[in-house]
Amino acid sequence: MIYIPTCNHCGTQWAWWQTVKRSFTISPDLPCPHCEKEQFVTKRSKKRSGLLGFVTPLSIPIVVMLQPTFIGILLFYTSLFILLVSICPFLMELSNEEEFMF
Ligand SMILES: [Zn+2]
Repeated sequence: MIYIPTCNHCGTQWAWWQTVKRSFTISPDLPCPHCEKEQFVTKRSKKRSGLLGFVTPLSIPIVVMLQPTFIGILLFYTSLFILLVSICPFLMELSNEEEFMF
């Protein structure tokens, strides 16, 4: 499923780069770039982006099997990182209230 994060206050769709920029902040609230009202990432989308975290350990046996050079490993993980960051905004759903994991 592909989502485009939409602000629940003003209904504006967040641009991809705005979502990426806001994903890198440590605080749980993400102010909307348009109306500055706080938005929170839903529990469901947190779980979904957590699944992306499994991609890296899963890739290790494949990388080891291919016996790449150091530069090869570096290139692989750089592109993997860029790929994961690009996917993240499409998994993000916003809500007006903070949802806790437990
Ligand atoms: Zn807004």
